[in-house]
Amino acid sequence: MRVKKVFRKDYLTLLESVLFLDFLKGLSVTLKNLLRKPITTQYPKEKLTPPKRFRGAHGHFVWDGTEPPSLKAIEKFMSYEKAKSRCVACYMCQTACPMPTLFRIEAVQTPDGKKKVTRFEMNLLNCLFCGLCVDACPVGCLTMTDIYELASYSRRDEVFSVEQLEERGKDYKARRGDEPERIWPNDEERKRLWGEIKWSG
Ligand code: SF4
Ligand code: SF4
Repeated sequence: MRVKKVFRKDYLTLLESVLFLDFLKGLSVTLKNLLRKPITTQYPKEKLTPPKRFRGAHGHFVWDGTEPPSLKAIEKFMSYEKAKSRCVACYMCQTACPMPTLFRIEAVQTPDGKKKVTRFEMNLLNCLFCGLCVDACPVGCLTMTDIYELASYSRRDEVFSVEQLEERGKDYKARRGDEPERIWPNDEERKRLWGEIKWSG
């Protein structure tokens, strides 16, 4: 590998000293950036909407008639209510999670032999926001949303109950359910920075 040598003099020429050339060069950089559109936002006054696949706070999708076939197949074995969490307490999310102790999942058997989920809590203080739990969920219950403001005044407030997860899931689906899955805020920006994707066939 060739190493490019950069030569820097440790003195100023007479012309540079008299005309303040270095100072003017620095000032030109400042002036150029002064006229550029800022790329920062004035948070919290200004808030960005993250792309659809942003890994923010978790939510639960509910029984609303849009369940995947995997959940339809075991529907008759579950005791559930419409508009409530789709969770079937399979523990796959907890098993896939690098911090499994952040979950509290419990279920009981009802007198008619069905399974009823009685508890689902997540302590997001221990969460890495890696998304492995969402990928592992076989019934399309667990999701990650675009909510990123999770600061609170107590540690208890970072433990989310199933009711809170349901509300977040419903809100997220209502706001962004119809959007295509993407990791960029918009396709134009992606094309500008990365160009068109060319598939082999
Ligand atoms: S996002 Fe990662 S760390 Fe957080 S609960 Fe899911 S699997 Fe665990
Ligand atoms: S993987 Fe899905 S269905 Fe299974 S316990 Fe977790 S949230 Fe519930």
